[in-house]
Amino acid sequence: MNKLEERIIADGIVLEEKILKVNSFLNHQIDVELLDWIGEYLAKQFNNQPIDKILTIEASGIAFATATSYHLNKIPVVFARKGTNKLTGDSYSAEVYSFTKKTTFVINCDAQFICPGEKILIIDDFLADGNAALGLTNLCQQAKAEVVGIGIVIEKGFQPGRSRLEAAGFIVKSVACIANMKNNRIEFK
Ligand code: 5GP
Repeated sequence: MNKLEERIIADGIVLEEKILKVNSFLNHQIDVELLDWIGEYLAKQFNNQPIDKILTIEASGIAFATATSYHLNKIPVVFARKGTNKLTGDSYSAEVYSFTKKTTFVINCDAQFICPGEKILIIDDFLADGNAALGLTNLCQQAKAEVVGIGIVIEKGFQPGRSRLEAAGFIVKSVACIANMKNNRIEFK
């Protein structure tokens, strides 16, 4: 088991066999030493190729994207905002169905922050059904930027996120991949 997997076993809380709460060390209170380790781990998965920017989604992706950037020469981090952008006309937006909240929301990003031809690494905290990550790839497609990979902190391998992303041609790497969370027992792949 790696450092993150050990911490998930120690402090993760399973809700209804499908949702993992990691509020005490990642999603509400943050263990910064673990965060830095995660950033280094994700950076190593993608550091064999040129990357111009990291794209994530507010709010919980920002810390991991920033930690990854620190280990990729501090390249810029852009985060998609939730909601429609009413202030500037020049922006990209996509609809995302939320697995945890069971609602559809819009994400948006100013056109000036993702540019044609840029090589973009997408980072997010969880991968479940893949909707958030696909929404981010959609923004990149609108901008004519290239997605070089998708880095995930915690993948729920019993949900179809990875297969949907890989079927769309994206490379997916995760730090911890959960095989199942039955009877409150977490097993990794
Ligand atoms: P997806 O779009 O892949 O279905 O879900 C990913 C998004 O939903 C992530 O950005 C994350 O915020 C949230 N999410 C999905 N599953 C979980 C979970 O088990 N625990 C937490 N804390 N968030 C989750």
